[in-house]
Amino acid sequence: MGEKKKKIVKTIKVDVDKCNGCRACEVACSAFHAAPKYSSNNPARSRIRVIREPLRDIYVPVYAGEYTAAECMGRDKYKIDGKEYDECGFCRASCPSRDLFKEPDSGLPLKCDMCESDPQLEEPLCVQWCLNDALIYEEREEEVEEEEKLGDVETGLESLVNKFGLDKIIQTVARMSISKKD
Ligand code: SF4
Ligand code: SF4
Repeated sequence: MGEKKKKIVKTIKVDVDKCNGCRACEVACSAFHAAPKYSSNNPARSRIRVIREPLRDIYVPVYAGEYTAAECMGRDKYKIDGKEYDECGFCRASCPSRDLFKEPDSGLPLKCDMCESDPQLEEPLCVQWCLNDALIYEEREEEVEEEEKLGDVETGLESLVNKFGLDKIIQTVARMSISKKD
């Protein structure tokens, strides 16, 4: 068991009723994560996506969560205030059953990283750009077990290991490090 440490837990509360599907949050997130930063925007690279069904007045902003190697065996349907939502509508996973939350060029999973906790940002960019206040940033303090995580690097490596196997990844890294020394 790891040591208990106090940690600031960052959350974004989503008020689905206030979202009008403008997608400003997707634009802001993808621009922040462009390389170089803010050099382009492409919602396909965003770590928040808005599930939109304008004819049924359904707009659900969803944050990219954990990568999963296998899709669910069972699915849930939600009916809220008379509206039926898609089975995967509220799911945050980067999963094989859909194209959502995959980096379009590499296919690697995307995950919300709270804008890398950039100290220059008062609030995450998607929250700042949501002029309808559908996204509300909150912080709270919690006691958690200390665990070192490397965020995107760990998520990307995990998906590569699942796809190609650990041995192949180790061999490739060894080969790359030899060629870098040459
Ligand atoms: S908090 Fe930052 S990284 Fe997460 S979805 Fe919003 S803009 Fe993207
Ligand atoms: S910026 Fe706000 S209102 Fe616009 S799509 Fe995103 S969550 Fe919805």
